[in-house]
Amino acid sequence: DVDTTLKVIVVGNGQVGKTSMITRFAKGIFTNEYKKTIGVDFLEKKTYLSAVGEEVTYLLWDTAGQEEYDAITRTYYKGAGACILAFSTIDRDSFDAVESWYQKVTDECGTIAMVLVQNKVDLMDDAAMEPKEVEMLAKKLRLKLYRTCVKDDLNVSEVFQHLGSEFVRS
Ligand code: GDP
Repeated sequence: DVDTTLKVIVVGNGQVGKTSMITRFAKGIFTNEYKKTIGVDFLEKKTYLSAVGEEVTYLLWDTAGQEEYDAITRTYYKGAGACILAFSTIDRDSFDAVESWYQKVTDECGTIAMVLVQNKVDLMDDAAMEPKEVEMLAKKLRLKLYRTCVKDDLNVSEVFQHLGSEFVRS
């Protein structure tokens, strides 16, 4: 049987919930060791994906708010097999920045499994964008859209399962 390891990166503006999402999925805490040596944190999580009948080991990388440093960015993107493009329901700038994040990932990684994630849907009453705008952006970028609430653990594991299945099938 196959041992599938998948590096997943989570990109998007600060405060959209990237760290929270990774921590929620892996239900762990970040080790400081890698942060000290290469400037990036990561978590490991093994999951059996019934959709593809395979166990996948996720390596979940977090930039820990250091997205602006080029050297770190390169280490961060290197070898990624899947990407979560995240923005926040209550942060218009984070939504407007999605396309530039998409471009950056595509430039560094080529074509990899990717999804668009609208986080903080518990705050939908204060949304800074219309649902239709989000759906149009997903369509334009040809990405599957997930609406998540990391706070209430809504749809988080579904995002990772989808990426894992896409990766295994590709
Ligand atoms: P990052 O900078 O993108 O890594 O964002 P963080 O994971 O640090 O989260 C930023 C803030 O948003 C924190 O205070 C989180 O607790 C909060 N947060 C994350 N997800 C949600 C959510 O689904 N709903 C709400 N209301 N807050 C969230």
